[in-house]
Amino acid sequence: MDIIVVGGGIAGIVSALLLADNHHVTLIERADSLGGLLQTRKMDNDLSFDFGTHVPRKTGIEELDQVLFGNIDNSKWNEFEFLEVGNYYKGRLNKDSQFINTQMLEKEEYYKGLVELLNTSIIENESELNANDYLEKTFGKTFKEKIFEPILLKLYGEELNDLNSRAHLLFGYGRLICGNQLMTNHLKESVFYDNKIANTSNAIGASFKKSLYPKTPGINQWIESLEDLLNQKKVRIIKGISIDKAVFDNSGNIIEIELNNGEKLHSDLITWTIPINIFSELIEGPLEKNQTEKKFRAVGLFDFEFDKQFQCNNHYIYCNDEHMKSFRITLYSNLSDSNRNTCTVEVIDNYENLLNLSIDIIVEELKDMGIINIDSKVLFSNKQILKNGFPISFMDFYGNDISLQEKLQDQVNNVLFFGRNSKEFFMEEVLSSLYYKLINSGL
Ligand SMILES: Cc1cc2nc3c(=O)[nH]c(=O)nc-3n(C[C@H](O)[C@H](O)[C@H](O)COP(=O)(O)OP(=O)(O)OC[C@H]3O[C@@H](n4cnc5c(N)ncnc54)[C@H](O)[C@@H]3O)c2cc1C
Repeated sequence: MDIIVVGGGIAGIVSALLLADNHHVTLIERADSLGGLLQTRKMDNDLSFDFGTHVPRKTGIEELDQVLFGNIDNSKWNEFEFLEVGNYYKGRLNKDSQFINTQMLEKEEYYKGLVELLNTSIIENESELNANDYLEKTFGKTFKEKIFEPILLKLYGEELNDLNSRAHLLFGYGRLICGNQLMTNHLKESVFYDNKIANTSNAIGASFKKSLYPKTPGINQWIESLEDLLNQKKVRIIKGISIDKAVFDNSGNIIEIELNNGEKLHSDLITWTIPINIFSELIEGPLEKNQTEKKFRAVGLFDFEFDKQFQCNNHYIYCNDEHMKSFRITLYSNLSDSNRNTCTVEVIDNYENLLNLSIDIIVEELKDMGIINIDSKVLFSNKQILKNGFPISFMDFYGNDISLQEKLQDQVNNVLFFGRNSKEFFMEEVLSSLYYKLINSGL
């Protein structure tokens, strides 16, 4: 078959690799390079910064992991049993866990919140609830108000009533630390509490799936190894070009794709890994088009090199202080073998606020959090803003693209939809999902 894969992010690359053994595959990427969000920005002074934290983890699916990591030079990569994720909350840097420790609240709030959490009930209609109701039913009123509400307001700039029940998950706030490890162990014996209560340390109950990062910083090296594999498998890669038009036959099959350089490509099957609304716009004829437009927060990437080592060994750290601007800090020298003390601080805000946000404020926050020494000097800094950086998880965002996908799938026979959507956001879930969809399709 002639298969066209649209989008050269990790979803498009991996779809093309999985399909290339049995088919003629053409991969179309609008940008001049592959990788999508897995990009490395190379600076003139030999420093490399990713778009924040993009550290691949093995999926546990042997065939898929072979495709993903079989072509990397292991001697040039670090492997981690688990990632050392930390978080800063209420004036304390917790180097052992990404999860918020409820014991950092005022004593009375903590006890009240704990009793409420223990008294929560099973939720039946999760997807119909807004974030306010979902978080209150899951974690209790006090933890919702004192912990989730201020943090999600900082990150989304929206009230909990307007956000959906999964909004907190996109930032990794799925669980809370609620007490010491002995109490945690007992509570975690129940699946009900296991889903909301976090272990006190990343090391406890760590997944068997290893994470990887190059010894010399830059996740682009992964993309390069995959692009090399695409070439070995004779996938035709078209970069810097996007699709202008899709031509249908009478039975609802796309038979031809027209590119914006005028080239026409025959297709037996399309694998679509870019936003679904672009698909419905491309198609002439009576196809479903009405989808609520997605809204985004801008993401500021503040890159630094410091003269002194970081004061922690964490690979990355979430800043959960509602008054600080920082969201997440990726410490490349802790992920790699580099002796240059580099990091990227991601800030999620509206575009104008990010334009006005000075680098000095972020440096002060890194000092206040205890990530850099109070005497640390900035050797290099760089600021970049991604306008459509992070999707806002409004009520109508949840599942909207999935239902549009289903409708379009009914109208078009020869298209498969993969890639990031409202239910699959993180790299590992995007990749596992596309793998199983491909297996089930028999291709
Ligand atoms: C701010 C942010 C932080 C994140 N942090 C994490 C994290 O910590 N861990 C994690 O696992 N995941 C994280 N993710 C999610 C992760 O980035 C995605 O799961 C992954 O990148 C999805 O890959 P994709 O191929 O679906 O999409 P993308 O990486 O977006 O790739 C889509 C590609 O399609 C191309 N394209 C778009 N339009 C066209 C067109 N018309 N024609 C041709 N090509 C086109 C784009 O140029 C791009 O290369 C984060 C995402 C964001 C936005």
